[in-house]
Amino acid sequence: MWPHNKDGLYSVKSGYNILLHWKTTNAPSSAHSDPYNKVWKKLWCLPTIPRHIVLLWRILQRAIPVRSELNKRGIHCHILCPRCLHNEETINHAFMECNHAAKIWFGSKLRTRFEGYQRDFTDWLAHIITHLNEEDISYVASIVYGIWYARNPQINCDANLAKEGCWGLGAAFRDSEGALVAEATWEMAGYGDPILAEARATYQAIQMVVDCCFHEIVI
Ligand SMILES: [Zn+2]
Repeated sequence: MWPHNKDGLYSVKSGYNILLHWKTTNAPSSAHSDPYNKVWKKLWCLPTIPRHIVLLWRILQRAIPVRSELNKRGIHCHILCPRCLHNEETINHAFMECNHAAKIWFGSKLRTRFEGYQRDFTDWLAHIITHLNEEDISYVASIVYGIWYARNPQINCDANLAKEGCWGLGAAFRDSEGALVAEATWEMAGYGDPILAEARATYQAIQMVVDCCFHEIVI
């Protein structure tokens, strides 16, 4: 899925490395080779939260694990949008067509409506980055991040000493409305160090994320 890591998994570190690489290699001489050159330049200099910038960049690269993209790449999972369960989850659907996203855009100060919009969300995003000022692009980035954040399950995990030499670990997965979508508890041999126990609980939760095919989560 993520083309810049051996295991195909996205990491913030690899995202930054790529951004850094592109920043230094997209010299003025290459201005005509990449139609997104202007977009990247503005995006990298945006005075906003780095993870918002990385998310916009991933969307423009189509390196975002919406379900249609996952299936195209051989990762078989349900194709329907996990929020509305009505349509195939594409980038266009997740970020502009889904009812949940449409409401957020219309409720924003931009009052954006995508009905009848014939082009891709990535085209719209590139246009916005090219033509709006930094403050407005940052505002759009925060909305896009909010839509993606709300789409992904959130996990709480915890650990305690169940009995001598034994950890009690637990994890709860909730959707954006706070409804429980999955939960699990584990009893494992372990001693002392509560930080190690918390780390083990996080590891177990991440393992469960893989088993449940959640692909993108917030811990
Ligand atoms: Zn939907």
